Amino acid sequence: MKKLFLFLFLLLISIALFAQKLPRIKILATGGTIAGRGASADRSAYTSGELPIKDLIAAVPGIDKLATITGEQISNVGSQDMTVAIWMKLNQRINDIYKNNEADGVVITHGTDTQEETAYFLSLTVRYDKPVVLTGSMRPATAISADGPKNLYDAVALAASKEAANSGVLLVFSENIFSGRDAVKTNTTHVEAFTSPNTGPIGQIYDGHVVMYESPLRKANKNTPFDITGLTSLPEVAIVELYADAPATALNAYMAAGVKGIVTGGLGNGNLNKVNTAAVESAVKKGIPVVRASRVSSGRVTLLDETDDEKLGTVVSDDLLPQKARILLMLGLTKTKDQKQLQQYFFDY
Ligand code: ASP
Repeated sequence: MKKLFLFLFLLLISIALFAQKLPRIKILATGGTIAGRGASADRSAYTSGELPIKDLIAAVPGIDKLATITGEQISNVGSQDMTVAIWMKLNQRINDIYKNNEADGVVITHGTDTQEETAYFLSLTVRYDKPVVLTGSMRPATAISADGPKNLYDAVALAASKEAANSGVLLVFSENIFSGRDAVKTNTTHVEAFTSPNTGPIGQIYDGHVVMYESPLRKANKNTPFDITGLTSLPEVAIVELYADAPATALNAYMAAGVKGIVTGGLGNGNLNKVNTAAVESAVKKGIPVVRASRVSSGRVTLLDETDDEKLGTVVSDDLLPQKARILLMLGLTKTKDQKQLQQYFFDY
């Protein structure tokens, strides 16, 4: 009798375990090298954004044991051709997926060139605290030791884990987990292409096991002040990079072209030379907000250091590089042109 009970008990446990549902992960494919095809396995030349989503999933052994996967093609471009329009489509789709309870986690496959920008844009516009994980690859799917399948496996494992919720938008690459806000592509060709120069990775993933060390504080998600529902475009913001003896030609041309905001990739602590200071002054007077960022890859741009921001009317980017500061300024301008309020966004997000 005892043995029968034991047998029934074990049987019930096995049925319960077997019936336990895998997390539902939706992969949204946008293109990039991860979907790239080269002429041969030993050449690095390739065309990105060629393979469809079903081929990407099929190339990852064991991925079906991590989650129940569905895929959708949002775009199929090399991410050098990423656009604000694709960002808006992606954001809308993710918000709808979570609103309609279509998945437990979202993974985005993306080219590496602008992946950090998409990650930051989504971290400011996705209105849910559920997992959103971006990944890509440096080698095309046809190359020897293609890194895409492993990165995709890790991204699905991360999106399926409990650690990914409430962590903001994440980026996983070469077994490092980064906050999407802070990740930056810092190598043009190596497989370890991403770092977070100011904060480092916030976790690691190995054999599909997620280990988190930190939780990002600067994440917007459901508390985001930016609601772009119904918008079809964002205010145009240009980036002007400074260098020794830089003329103000670019800044003046952008102003004449009617941009709504300007980010400067300044020198050191976001410094501007004299001619560009004068051009910034006239931009601000004309009602075009200017954010001082830096071309230096780590550190912060601080208020009232070598530049008198109060006098000039400029906002500082804190630790956002120009390409990320542009995104926050575009979104900020959907709400206000007020210098103080814009500055607060840069200190909060
Ligand atoms: N140019 C490619 C892209 O960003 C590079 C890559 O994906 O690694 O789409």
